[in-house]
Amino acid sequence: MREVADCFACELIERPEGVAGGRIATLGNWVVEHCIGPLGVGTVIVKPARHVVHLADLNAAEATELGAVLARVAQAVTLAASEVGNGPGQVYATLWSHADRKPGHIHFVVQPVSDALMAEHDAHGPELQVRMFRAGEQMEPAAMIAAAERIRAHLR
Ligand SMILES: [Zn+2]
Repeated sequence: MREVADCFACELIERPEGVAGGRIATLGNWVVEHCIGPLGVGTVIVKPARHVVHLADLNAAEATELGAVLARVAQAVTLAASEVGNGPGQVYATLWSHADRKPGHIHFVVQPVSDALMAEHDAHGPELQVRMFRAGEQMEPAAMIAAAERIRAHLR
């Protein structure tokens, strides 16, 4: 059963086929999925398996795991992007968990950022993400599935 009604993050935990590539990994109390927002193929979400709306509400186990999980996922994202010639010079890990200005199930976006991506949008940092959302380029599900599989292979 979904822990909280009307939470899309919980819905995908319950029904991982709702995102292209499905669940990439479960790392302790954390779940990894491909990002649905238009932040590029190979960008993933890292979120608590439990419905947690505030970083301050993480329990001791979740908080203890967080650093290691983010580092491991960043390594996997880096390796996966490099395999397809898109090696990132940096990997962002951002948390902007608002939906319609209401706090939502927290989810870190782990995004590989290459020189080509920055050049394409003429931006870096938060402005890069803003511009990517404005551009709203749809990602091909097949490409998301392939990226998810590459990342999954590095998290086994
Ligand atoms: Zn939730």
